[in-house]
Amino acid sequence: MLKMGLMEKTTLEKGILEERKDSIRLMESTCSGQGIKCDTDSVSGSVSQRACVYCGARVVLNPITDAFHIVHGPIGCASYTWDIRGSLSSGDDLYRNSFSTDLRETDVIFGGEKKLIAAIEEVALKYHPKVIFIYATCIVGVIGDDVDAVCRTMSSKYGIPVIPVKSPGFSGNKSTGYRMACNAIMEVIKPYKDREKVKGINILGDFNLAGEMWIIKDYLKQIGIEVIAGLTGDSDYESLIKAPGAALNVVQCAGSSTYLAKRMEEEMGIPFIKVSFFGIEDTTSSLIRIAEALGDMEAREKAIELTKRKTAELKAFVNKYKNNLNGKKAAIYVGGGFKAISLIRQFETLGIKTVVVGTQTGKKEDYEIIASLVDSDTVILDDANPAELETFLKEKGADILVGGVKERPLAYKLGIAFCDHNHERKHPLAGFEGVVNFTKEINSSINHPIWDYLKLEEG
Ligand code: SF4
Repeated sequence: MLKMGLMEKTTLEKGILEERKDSIRLMESTCSGQGIKCDTDSVSGSVSQRACVYCGARVVLNPITDAFHIVHGPIGCASYTWDIRGSLSSGDDLYRNSFSTDLRETDVIFGGEKKLIAAIEEVALKYHPKVIFIYATCIVGVIGDDVDAVCRTMSSKYGIPVIPVKSPGFSGNKSTGYRMACNAIMEVIKPYKDREKVKGINILGDFNLAGEMWIIKDYLKQIGIEVIAGLTGDSDYESLIKAPGAALNVVQCAGSSTYLAKRMEEEMGIPFIKVSFFGIEDTTSSLIRIAEALGDMEAREKAIELTKRKTAELKAFVNKYKNNLNGKKAAIYVGGGFKAISLIRQFETLGIKTVVVGTQTGKKEDYEIIASLVDSDTVILDDANPAELETFLKEKGADILVGGVKERPLAYKLGIAFCDHNHERKHPLAGFEGVVNFTKEINSSINHPIWDYLKLEEG
């Protein structure tokens, strides 16, 4: 059981809200024993780094390359999430467009259903889409458009799935949006739930941000395991509807996709395991565990052989960089718990201590693993805000922050190195190739001379 540190007065004086104290662990020695508060709505006024419900849904569904994503709401909701992830495609690039009903004041007064129907009809007649997702944003939740009814009518009129994604920003937190996206995926694949099972897997929760899905698929191919569908990185409608035929689901981003895995297990009889392809240790164990879960001993042997060879190839490389990185301190603030866990392990391999670690959507069990991996004085925090991150980055003397697009300016303003491990990364950080990219990036960022100049300036 993770123990919770009581907030020290000095920290409260630095602007940490009283309502947030149970979501931050400072030191194990001052613990109440209740565990960290997480998996709940954000505290009002805390300016959480989480995005809204709609954004959570959009980031999960957007990588479906041949889908039309119609955002029913004011134009801001659409532009805010336009091309939000760098998800790569080996086929269609339709998903990189953004469509919106562009609701205005009169629509808010008289209702937006007519506009939504017109938008769906335009798309259906002009482009003959395979699947359309309709995102209901905040204002639609307020004015009460019957998005379900519109989608049902349009679906039967045009004979294509028109799927409602009910995601008003105020209706919960980012995790709610993930659930809405998972429900939408279920709507697409449920009609095919009785497909005969074949010996292959689905990869859930990888969004192919910089080609990770391709790297993982290549390893699996080398050990003789077929990937039926990737959800949703580099996916399309035809591959998605094959997903119910898989024998196993592997969940890479647990925060966004565990709910989908659970539904597929209950409703389609597909068991799942959680995996991570970040770092040597986790990539190795994930490949072996996938083979074991499928009961494929030949694939298991091949996985052991492949991972041994790759690990040996990387040994000299990691040792070389370790000399540059030993003793440095890292802060991690990412979306889900599994990624944070992998990053702590990766930093340890490089001789770097994790001094601050937090997530947007981590679960209790994730935080328990995190607490078992870090030192007792490491700050652990759930759903942090920028003020808290700033406080602890400074207090703990972090040399680098690993986070996403919203954390980058914070790190640079504080004169701290940064590594984007989310939407905007440009090179893959998964698998053994990812270890090389990650290590090089951490080294060049953390050891860049600019940080010394900034310290001189401050002095
Ligand atoms: S859904 Fe609501 S919170 Fe989200 S972007 Fe639109 S207006 Fe903003």
